[in-house]
Amino acid sequence: MSGNSKASHSKLTASVNPILRSGKPPVLFCDFDGTITLSDNIVAVMKHFNPEGWVPIVEDIIALRKSVRQGVGEMFELLPSSMKEEITSYILKTAGIRPGFQQLLDWCKTNGVEFFVTSGGIDFFVYPLLAPFGIPKDHIYCNGSDFSGERIRITWPHSCDEHCDNDCGMCKTAVIRRFPQDRYTRILIGDSVTDFAGAKLVDLVFSRSHLTERCVELGLPHIPFETFHDVVHHLEQGDWNS
Ligand SMILES: [Mg+2]
Ligand SMILES: [Zn+2]
Repeated sequence: MSGNSKASHSKLTASVNPILRSGKPPVLFCDFDGTITLSDNIVAVMKHFNPEGWVPIVEDIIALRKSVRQGVGEMFELLPSSMKEEITSYILKTAGIRPGFQQLLDWCKTNGVEFFVTSGGIDFFVYPLLAPFGIPKDHIYCNGSDFSGERIRITWPHSCDEHCDNDCGMCKTAVIRRFPQDRYTRILIGDSVTDFAGAKLVDLVFSRSHLTERCVELGLPHIPFETFHDVVHHLEQGDWNS
């Protein structure tokens, strides 16, 4: 046998994997905070810097009493813009990446599967934390930030379209809808409240934490996972749909 063993391995995978040969190629939409990173960076910042009044806001978001856009905007407004460097370096120093993330990206590349980061997080920490992984910038969706005023203002370059009235902030459902259900096997990977709306649209959810509870509650097709090695394993098997 000659040639590149990795390439022949992927050919073998493609020929036995029901998702990859289904004619509806998979497309992955992956949350950032608490999914790619081990914990939620927004919550970590609030816990560490502890501005007065953040706790009831986060409780309202999780209980769906307040939209993510409104709540996240309100929480960052509790912090002065002058803390930009301090907050950024805190996140870059403390955030950990979930094991297997590089392997998932490699699997997508080998199999020609599109991978999007769909994050409710903020540009000033999402882009630097993802920099080592070489994901094209147009495959990363997140919110923006403005430190020019006295307090931190979050901006929303990817807010809800006419089909979504969830006031998401970064609207994952709008991104997902660009890949029609009849042409793609849509797969969402996530952990919490920013994933709730998208989870209802897709063919399969890889879930953790609050998102697993939500999927159970709503009867959505989901596979709980701990590391991205688990996700690669199930994608490789491709047997969840049969
Ligand atoms: Mg999350
Ligand atoms: Zn939305």
